[in-house]
Amino acid sequence: MEKNKSPAGKRALITGVTGQDGAYLARLLLDKGYRVFGLVARRGSDALWRLRELRADADVTLLAGDVTDVSSLLRAIEQSQPTELYNLAAQSFVDKSWDLPSVTVQVSGMAVTNVLEAIRCTDRKIRFYQATSSEIFGRVRSPVQDESTPFHPRSPYGVAKVFAHWLTVNYRESHGLHASSGILFNHESPLRGPEFVTRKISSSVARIKLGLQDKLKLGNLDAKRDWGFAGDYVEAMWRMLQQDVADDYVIATGQNASVRDFCRIAFSRAGLDYEKYVEVDSALFRRAEIDAVLGSAAKAKARLGWSPKTSLEELVAMMVDADLARIGRQSSP
Ligand code: NDP
Ligand code: GDP
Repeated sequence: MEKNKSPAGKRALITGVTGQDGAYLARLLLDKGYRVFGLVARRGSDALWRLRELRADADVTLLAGDVTDVSSLLRAIEQSQPTELYNLAAQSFVDKSWDLPSVTVQVSGMAVTNVLEAIRCTDRKIRFYQATSSEIFGRVRSPVQDESTPFHPRSPYGVAKVFAHWLTVNYRESHGLHASSGILFNHESPLRGPEFVTRKISSSVARIKLGLQDKLKLGNLDAKRDWGFAGDYVEAMWRMLQQDVADDYVIATGQNASVRDFCRIAFSRAGLDYEKYVEVDSALFRRAEIDAVLGSAAKAKARLGWSPKTSLEELVAMMVDADLARIGRQSSP
């Protein structure tokens, strides 16, 4: 086994390291003295832009691999010898999951079997984090959702995440793995993918403010989400793996807001009135909508000592300001 070089003696392997959470988690773990490895499939032309924004690109060791390819996972574990493995890889965009149901179910659901089997067959002491989602609650069975709320997913993505959640629980119960499922509610940041509504709004506010766009077309403005800041949420992932006993935790802010509210706050950050710019386009409505989600992270607060630090207003300001700066730079001569 390769000699452990990190000061904390800890080594982490992150799948989905090029995504929003992967970048924030890599930064967090590097700051804690971990040696960080990331599984990268290199699908995009500039896969490392998020890691670069957080100045983590030079310090993360990238390993070629794909969660649907178990041999690449075995190789990555062999090369990285992790003490912790964070499975963040997913086709994570709900709307796309209706167009690509098989891919979504393979990557966001079935592939969790590959990751867990790779751990079981190599080093059962590796602590495992599975990125589950509030999408498993879907058509919600109670106004506030916690770890005991029944699941009713509304999209192929949500269905895949139900599988991922239960498989994680199953490997904990039947193989004794230290495997935790984090049921995270929506979390955003300036590094959020542009297809998600929050980033679509913040980048459009910036383009409208800078005179590069006239209108913003959105779907359902009445949908409510419990939006937190990704930087706060990766801390919860890490705390789950520091517990003596693995468990499942809801991570949420405990407050929700509508897409309309998000628009109002975002446009006003740039001194604009959203009603003058936002147009509803029925083509952008979901096939099966989740009207409202609202999480209780009481268990995480009690057991992990975790609570969110960033308000919705602070989050929106961070996103709009980052897009104004980014788009301003791009459009300047
Ligand atoms: P992103 O979509 O930003 O990142 C997903 C990552 O998975 C990307 O690095 C992507 O790489 C990678 N990936 C996709 N397919 C594969 C594959 N077959 N093999 C290896 N890697 C792959 O998601 P987030 O960072 O926002 O979310 C992280 C995780 O948390 C996801 O599992 C998501 O479903 C879950 N989650 C997210 C929430 C949120 O609000 N952000 C809420 C609840 C759960 P590439 O760029 O090359 O495609
Ligand atoms: P999700 O909660 O993971 O599906 O995150 P999204 O950011 O994709 O969507 C959040 C909510 O915004 C959903 O209820 C969507 O129906 C709603 N929404 C309204 N207009 C849009 C839009 O133009 N794009 C996206 N992505 N969502 C929209």
